[in-house]
Amino acid sequence: MRYIAGVHPDDWSARHSVAAMARRTAALVNALAPEAPDPRGIAALLRAHGETGPLDLTAADVTRMRRAAALLREVFAAAGTGTAADALNRLLREHTGPLRLTSHGAGTPWHPHLDRDDDAPWDEWFLASSCLALTVLLWNTQEPPGRICAARSCGDVFVAQGRGPERRYCSRRCATRERVAAHRRARAAAVPPA
Ligand SMILES: [Zn+2]
Repeated sequence: MRYIAGVHPDDWSARHSVAAMARRTAALVNALAPEAPDPRGIAALLRAHGETGPLDLTAADVTRMRRAAALLREVFAAAGTGTAADALNRLLREHTGPLRLTSHGAGTPWHPHLDRDDDAPWDEWFLASSCLALTVLLWNTQEPPGRICAARSCGDVFVAQGRGPERRYCSRRCATRERVAAHRRARAAAVPPA
C-alpha cells in the first residue's frame, strides 16, 4: 500500500467509507434544517466528519447547502426501496455531473465523485457526494438508505444501517421519549370519564 500525503490508506478509507459518507450526509441534513445555521457550526461538523484543509464557509454557502439538504431529505422520507431509488434517480438526473474519478492532484487515493470538478461549490459537493453514498448504500442493502425519526417532536434523518429489527428512531433518547409518551396516552385512555 502506498502512503499518500502522510495519510495511511486505512485511515482514509475508514473516514471515506460509504457508510461514513452517508452518516455525514444525515448529520448535515439535520444541522441544516433550522432557518439560519451558523456557518462555523457547519464547518465544525464537516471537520468532525473528516474534512481537512481550509474551510471558508460563508452564510451564502450555507443557504445553498440548506437547499441541497431539503432535496436530500426526500430520499430519507421515502418509505420503500423503490421510492428511495426514484428520489435518488431524480437527484442524479437533475443535480449531479457524470461519474468521474479524482485523486485531488495525488492528495488522496483515487475515488469517485459526481460533482463537476474538485473545486465545485460546497452545495454541489454536498449534494453530489451524498447522492453517491446513498446510491451505493441502497445498491448494497437493497433497502432505503435512511429514514426520518418516527418521534413526533424530532424530524431528524438517520442512516438505516445493518440487519436486525427495523429502526424507527434516530436515537435511544427519541425511542425512550416515545415509549413514555405512548404509555401516558394509554393510561389516560384507560381512565374512565368522571
Ligand atoms: Zn429522533
